[in-house]
Amino acid sequence: MIDTHCHLDLYPKPGTVIAEADKRGMFVIAVTTTPKAFLGNMRMIEGRKRIRVAVGLHPELVAERHREVEDVCQLMAKTKYVGEIGIDGSPPHKSSIKLQTEVFSRFLTRASELGGKILSIHSRGAAALVLDEIERNGHGTPPILHWFSGTKQQVERAAKLGCWFSVGPAMLRSRKGRELLASMPRHRLLTETDGPFATDVDRPLMPWDVCMALPAIAEVWETTPANVDQIVSANFRKLINATEQGGAAAKLIGNC
Ligand code: MN
Repeated sequence: MIDTHCHLDLYPKPGTVIAEADKRGMFVIAVTTTPKAFLGNMRMIEGRKRIRVAVGLHPELVAERHREVEDVCQLMAKTKYVGEIGIDGSPPHKSSIKLQTEVFSRFLTRASELGGKILSIHSRGAAALVLDEIERNGHGTPPILHWFSGTKQQVERAAKLGCWFSVGPAMLRSRKGRELLASMPRHRLLTETDGPFATDVDRPLMPWDVCMALPAIAEVWETTPANVDQIVSANFRKLINATEQGGAAAKLIGNC
């Protein structure tokens, strides 16, 4: 069971969620929205091996917090995981798109220089721009496109650029989400919740709710949820092993 994009620190009681996710043997990438939050999250997880903290600066915050860009770049040396980063082209954030693109480009370049990083990337309303930047500056860093909402053609372009995709229960509720899933390469598919932002009707998705995505993926792939679970776990191990020597991922992941 793997949640590659969860905002653990934004639940009302993060400590309880962390303890429960750990008890269930889940692997969680706790994305953060500011460098300060990264440091707070590192303290919160208290060395739990299966919960990893990513450093990031959410694209929606770039306009007001771009002074923190270099802090993120420095902290990248302390973690394998980078996120949430990316570009948001939706109406409230369109005005800062040039700045967002420069910042995203800086993060990609820095991650490339350091090497061995795994990136969780936001691309709402900006899929083409995000892919342009990955093509220019994303060398050697496997980017995971989280909750991708571009076109099928963009999925194909992303796959050619070496991108991975993380999908969750909220994305797969929509027909468009399921259609995009169908065009994503199975060997580069991962699961996420984007909790607590993403919800199941009226409650925030919890990290272990990634299990709710398995039947939806199984339907599109015409296989069983258990098989999907195995494929996703194998994919994640492959991703870790590709970015690391030694390949310690295998025993970290429990099943749904
Ligand atoms: Mn998110």
